[in-house]
Amino acid sequence: MQMGPQTVRKAPQPHAHKLQEVASDQSDEPPVGHAVPPSGATRAIYPSETPIPPYFLARRLPRMGDCTRAFRRAHYPEATDAEWHDWRWQLRHRIRSLAQLETILELGEAERQALSQGGSLLPFAVTPYYMSLIDSADPHQALRRTVIPDRSEFLRTHGEADDPLGEDGHSPVEGIVHRYPDRVLFLVHDFCSTFCRYCTRSRVVGQGELRPDRERLESGLQYLREHTEVRDVLLSGGDPLTLADEKLDWLLGELRRIPHIQFLRIGTKVPTVLPQRVTPQLVKMLRKHHPLFLSIHFTHPDECTPETALACRRLADAGIPLGSQTVLLKGVNDDVAVMQRLMHRLLMMRVRPYYLYQCDPISGSAHFRTTVARGLEIIRGLRGWTTGYAVPTYVIDAPGGGGKIPLQPDYLAGRDGDDLLLRSYTGEVHRYPDPPVRMEVVR
Ligand code: SF4
Repeated sequence: MQMGPQTVRKAPQPHAHKLQEVASDQSDEPPVGHAVPPSGATRAIYPSETPIPPYFLARRLPRMGDCTRAFRRAHYPEATDAEWHDWRWQLRHRIRSLAQLETILELGEAERQALSQGGSLLPFAVTPYYMSLIDSADPHQALRRTVIPDRSEFLRTHGEADDPLGEDGHSPVEGIVHRYPDRVLFLVHDFCSTFCRYCTRSRVVGQGELRPDRERLESGLQYLREHTEVRDVLLSGGDPLTLADEKLDWLLGELRRIPHIQFLRIGTKVPTVLPQRVTPQLVKMLRKHHPLFLSIHFTHPDECTPETALACRRLADAGIPLGSQTVLLKGVNDDVAVMQRLMHRLLMMRVRPYYLYQCDPISGSAHFRTTVARGLEIIRGLRGWTTGYAVPTYVIDAPGGGGKIPLQPDYLAGRDGDDLLLRSYTGEVHRYPDPPVRMEVVR
């Protein structure tokens, strides 16, 4: 790996904070005119508090964010432009060891211990690009906490499990999880370019056991051919977009040849951790397999860089509907303002906020898990206060394999005779004439 100066330096703040920012919200709903929310209502986050970097609207996006440019200059001065923007170069130069990390970050004791102790379920790896978004001095920075190991991972608390969703128990064939009636999860391999410390599949990813060889993928395909009730297949892993174009093209083509499979989805974090992977060639190949949707894993607004915006633009221009999946994480994004900023930036990148997940009780995740009350408070702070499209569905994936259970703040305040009493986003109670169950028809 080409490493630059060995001095520890603080990474510049993400590009988003350096550029002149503009207020952008074009909310199609209230709260226009509410200067102060009524007492008891959730605090409003007003448009002026959620600036959007202007590059989202630029016809030509900057090739690189400011902090990434500075990081590259400091740590990879010999990398050419072509190398830095090549996803395979990014993969080859992943930061994977304590020794490498020490030349980039000022490590805290909890991080150092976790890296030297080893024995965690989940391996450690971060692409140089994603490392460029990480604050070198602050161990509490949101993105840093999500990818740099911490000794809290070694704590086991009540209710945690290596396979909290019981996926292994719903796996008729290696790599296939069939939990819902008409849809199937197909784990194509266990490789990710960057490992998230809260990964639900910590027990699987990076172990090198789930290999994308033809024989194994064929047995998954055969299961799908035989199960005519399956109409929807979600490719996941590991990250399917880290497969070579040819292999992914072959797999999608085989799935498309199965007559009862209507809908294909790919779950990926590539646009945020390895946006260089979204090449014009990849996108050209993907668009052959429509209807194909992408669920992109986003965690924090600092991930919405020019590189990621370009990746999303290429995918959206190819007609691929983009949705986001976000895991609610304590001290990372469990804050109304942070979540609103992320959701606004996603919309600017043509990504529709889709799911907000309560963090699964995976082994060693206590330091990431926040309360359901906090999650509901975040939804209450979004619904009505901003664009409806910016409000994801908050869900808990039920431990043991019960599937996703949606959670909503309680807007139903009660009943008064034939009237329902409904609480609005501001906390005011409104009446709705709810038709009685047995209604006499007047002719
Ligand atoms: S990208 Fe997804 S599968 Fe990979 S480590 Fe992160 S959460 Fe797990």
